[in-house]
Amino acid sequence: MLSTIKIVLVETTHPGNIGAVARAMKNMKMHNLWLVAPKTFPSADATSRASGADDVLAGATVCATLQEAVADCQLVIGTSARGRTISWPEITPRECAEKVLINEPGNTVAIVFGRESSGLKNHELDLCHFLLRIPCNSEYSSLNIAAAVQVVCYELFVASGLAPQEEILVGDKGEEPLATAAQMESFYIHMAEALTDIGFMHPAKSKSIMRRLRRIYNRVQLDTKELDILRGILRMSQGHKRNNDD
Ligand code: SAH
Repeated sequence: MLSTIKIVLVETTHPGNIGAVARAMKNMKMHNLWLVAPKTFPSADATSRASGADDVLAGATVCATLQEAVADCQLVIGTSARGRTISWPEITPRECAEKVLINEPGNTVAIVFGRESSGLKNHELDLCHFLLRIPCNSEYSSLNIAAAVQVVCYELFVASGLAPQEEILVGDKGEEPLATAAQMESFYIHMAEALTDIGFMHPAKSKSIMRRLRRIYNRVQLDTKELDILRGILRMSQGHKRNNDD
């Protein structure tokens, strides 16, 4: 259960931090590490700081973009030390663990950590359903990335002891699976195209509208059936516009 949760690090600068993250994960029985465009990896510094969690480093998946890392995920949680001008729905590490393992189990999950210097960018948070903030000293709120991973993985580890057994998690509620990040991306591309086609949105001004629309849909966590319905509506409105233009 814990082993499937992806810990994703975006553009980590110091390889030692990658090793320390691997160690923090293994302490909490977690192994699924993804590295998005790390500055230096593999590296002796990472191996040394992993202190025996070399298997986590060896099994890490390196990829070029955050989109790739979360493409198959149904729940994506970004982490940040600071609030944002557009607010994302915020959760604590404990709420995150409850959501992932107890309230909504059975989803493919990614928890995303940002750069040491500047955290996650807003366009990366656009891919996230929730923003996790570790409550701490408001005047000194930025933890070392491995310390942040440790706190989050600890809460997951504790909650996993309280979670229902794995066999009864998958498909037991007869519900449609949640849409993955890749399916949501195609939906947003389709929506931008349709809103432009029907004259609601000008491509030059689409950025902030699309960001707000993403936030609405990320908040409700669409399942695949609901996504099909919405895409049907988009297709029909595009066809309607074309017919009216003829
Ligand atoms: N200066 C950066 C902080 C980066 S710390 C900024 O302003 O965002 C590196 C990463 O550790 C962050 O991107 C986040 O993923 C994680 N992190 C650090 N402190 C955190 C906190 N209080 N809550 C949640 N995540 C935190």
